[in-house]
Amino acid sequence: RGGQVTLLGSRTDPGDALAALGAAARYLRADLSDPATLAAQVAALSAALSADPAYAGRPPARLIHAAGVLADGPAGSLGADAVRRAQTLKVDALRHLAAAFPRTPIIAIGSYAARFGNALQTEYAAANEAMAFLARQLSTPARLVQTQVWGPWESSDMVARVPLHLRRAMREDGVLFVEEQQGIAAHLSAWAIDAAIPGGAPGQIVLSEIVLGLDLPAARRVYVEDIPLDPAMGWLRDHALFGRPTVPMAMVVEWAAQYARLTGLAPAGPGAVQIRDLTLYEGVVVEQPVIARLRLENERFSVHVVAPPAPGQPDQAAPKLAWTARILPGAPLPSGDDLPQIPDSGDPSPLSLADFYAKHTFHGPLLRGITAIGAVGEGHVTGTVRTGSADDWGVSGPWTLGPLAIDSALQLAAVWARLRRGRGGFPVRLASWQQRDVPPGTALRARLAFTSARADRFTGDLILETLDGQIVAVGRGVEGELRSDELQIPEEHFRFDLNPAWIDLSQRLEMAEATGVRSPYFKVIEGVARDTVRIQGREVLHFSGYNYVGLSGHPEVTRRVQQAVVDYGTSVSASRVASGERPIHHDLEQRIAAALGVEAALVFTAGHATNVTTIGHLFGPKDLILHDELIHDSIFQGMRLSGATRRPFPHEDSKALARLLEQLRPRFERVLIVVEGVYSMDGDICDLPAYVALKKKHKTFLMVDEAHSFGVIGKNGYGVTEHFGIPGTEIDIWMGTLSKSLSSCGGYIAGSQTLITLLKYTAPGFIFSAGLTPANTMAAIAALDIMAREPQHVRKLQDNCAFFYKECQALGIDNGPARGESAVVPVITGNSYHALLLSDALLNRGINVQPILYPAVADNAARLRFFLSSLHSFEQLGYTARVIHEELSRIRLEFPV
Ligand code: PMP
Repeated sequence: RGGQVTLLGSRTDPGDALAALGAAARYLRADLSDPATLAAQVAALSAALSADPAYAGRPPARLIHAAGVLADGPAGSLGADAVRRAQTLKVDALRHLAAAFPRTPIIAIGSYAARFGNALQTEYAAANEAMAFLARQLSTPARLVQTQVWGPWESSDMVARVPLHLRRAMREDGVLFVEEQQGIAAHLSAWAIDAAIPGGAPGQIVLSEIVLGLDLPAARRVYVEDIPLDPAMGWLRDHALFGRPTVPMAMVVEWAAQYARLTGLAPAGPGAVQIRDLTLYEGVVVEQPVIARLRLENERFSVHVVAPPAPGQPDQAAPKLAWTARILPGAPLPSGDDLPQIPDSGDPSPLSLADFYAKHTFHGPLLRGITAIGAVGEGHVTGTVRTGSADDWGVSGPWTLGPLAIDSALQLAAVWARLRRGRGGFPVRLASWQQRDVPPGTALRARLAFTSARADRFTGDLILETLDGQIVAVGRGVEGELRSDELQIPEEHFRFDLNPAWIDLSQRLEMAEATGVRSPYFKVIEGVARDTVRIQGREVLHFSGYNYVGLSGHPEVTRRVQQAVVDYGTSVSASRVASGERPIHHDLEQRIAAALGVEAALVFTAGHATNVTTIGHLFGPKDLILHDELIHDSIFQGMRLSGATRRPFPHEDSKALARLLEQLRPRFERVLIVVEGVYSMDGDICDLPAYVALKKKHKTFLMVDEAHSFGVIGKNGYGVTEHFGIPGTEIDIWMGTLSKSLSSCGGYIAGSQTLITLLKYTAPGFIFSAGLTPANTMAAIAALDIMAREPQHVRKLQDNCAFFYKECQALGIDNGPARGESAVVPVITGNSYHALLLSDALLNRGINVQPILYPAVADNAARLRFFLSSLHSFEQLGYTARVIHEELSRIRLEFPV
């Protein structure tokens, strides 16, 4: 404030914003991220400042090094350049600045990612941490170089590129986003620099690193240890669950207890170790050597299984989560009334210990720690067990309480399960556990009570005490699974509610619900969808249907469909190859072939199935399919089914396609290029001439999906062939749907007679599926007849497309790559949240349009997608453009991101 500020940056000049702070501000442009020019850039800055009269030959009072760079991605895919750029910008730039301004105190802005870690920012975290290290080295009593670690700056370019849901997750993690004004007012003015400028007195603490931000997560304490396990180890051999050596839960308890001691969470002494929520995700099965990776992060303890790298496979498989738990600070064991109430007496066990170990359990000699079975009641069991020693088991020790006594106590639960439930069982969860250390070879009394039991589970409490009554361990909520004689299959493999896809979907739906905006999915539409529809009894403008030329609901179409149902019934009741063929099928196929100027066509019962079965059937593992990256799912599924090699090329980049063809064409038998006539997300038209030229040059097939171009572009609405004046015979495979302009449901393939006959006799989705219904067949015939007779519908649609685009553009609305030439018009909002809010706001103002959200598109490409119809009037379209503009401006003001 009131000082002289020179801002160095590579982006936009903040101009007045700096001056408004009350400083005499100047802006110099430089880029410190390029290693080749870094030295020159810093030298130029230094020269500019020494020539500046404002500094009158003295060095600046402070220098703030705040540059950042965002190139997030998995470490493996970042590449050396991204790593080098971050290092140059953070570390090398600081070194050069410190050399160029040897007496100026420097504040280097670090990153919270370096302090606390952040997924996908390894290169940035590393660079920032290296910078903090360098700052400590550069800092001298005469000149402070200090790192300050901030949360992300709300209004920075970097933060703007982080998707909203990630920002939300970071906030939940405790990351404080610094808001610009708040940041400047609360932090900039209070920066520690003045207080910390060193006098250099011996013993003075120089704050070389400061972490700012109220809610930043507490420092992470992470301990990791790898324990190699081998099936030859005696204790694993003696714990072979279902015949497979498996780490007992009791060993996991011991590992957690050792961590509690070692890390000082529960130092040895009177305090007992406290473990909570010990949960099994997947057993640690040791059929071959594996590593159990123990990890303690603050209080969160986990065990992962890491498979050692297989020969010839340098990449390790991802570690699998086996157990998790929380380790709480040590606390005294409960006593008296605080103990679980477990009876001490009961009837003697009808099952002898010898019989139990011989016939009813899988435990081998090293694991046999029950010394006597005591009483067994309806809900409880008692007995005595002994503690073992690490030496006996041949593992590193010493043990705290040791797994033998715990496992043996749990074996008593198995005795109970055998006697009372007729089945074996094993523990899978422990809600709470406390224990103190006990020397090897101690005899302990064990008491277990089962508080509830479901068909396949039991839950109980357990107490271990010395023979003279000193409590040594108390467990609550021990859950066991009763072993059945059934096949053992992980539950997620036969339950939909545990399916990862379901879990992902339900979380997304919950998140959408949490925004408080009504769901844009599965809205129920009443009546015929034309320019308007009724939703919950209310008439609204409709922009989310494909009734492009308004023929669904057209009286002639409806009348002829009704007659076709009278003439041929509601179903053809068979595959066409069997007895499902009707004359109207031929009528329709001839009309389609004629419209495209090709020999023949074949209709299928769904557009999606048309692509899947045609591509899946015509191509195979020796073939290559090259496709635009924005291709529709149906094509993608067909490619997968075919087993062909698949390579996408960047959207509408025929040069990139040409490069792929140069490299790859000779290596494959048949090659297919697939594009769409009009792209369903962006509404742009494909560069058909370029693809025709490439297909000829490289001797490939070309397929064009005309779902969104047929009925929309070309003088008569006959799609890209008409639009570009390219004969239909130049394209090998035409595909289109009946569900859009043709007011029906189904799909077609058109092309040479050979192609069509081949498909007609061999394509599975055609020959093994019932023929197109009479109603659907006639709807498409009638639509084609009307299009041929009354070209005004297509013309009106095309006028609407141009008009709506012009209106949007005039209002500054972002329509992406659309150019007003097709009936698909995206309105890009820039993030999913705004897209969702905007579609909701439009519905409130009588406009129905679908949002397209992350992950269907990148978050910054989130949009509303308008489908126009010839039925819309200019008034309706003009109104819609105005409302979009108003509502989007309001939303951006009210909900800044
Ligand atoms: N191809 C494209 C490009 C599409 O957009 C669609 C559906 N929107 C289909 C194929 C599938 O057509 P249908 O909905 O008629 O099954």
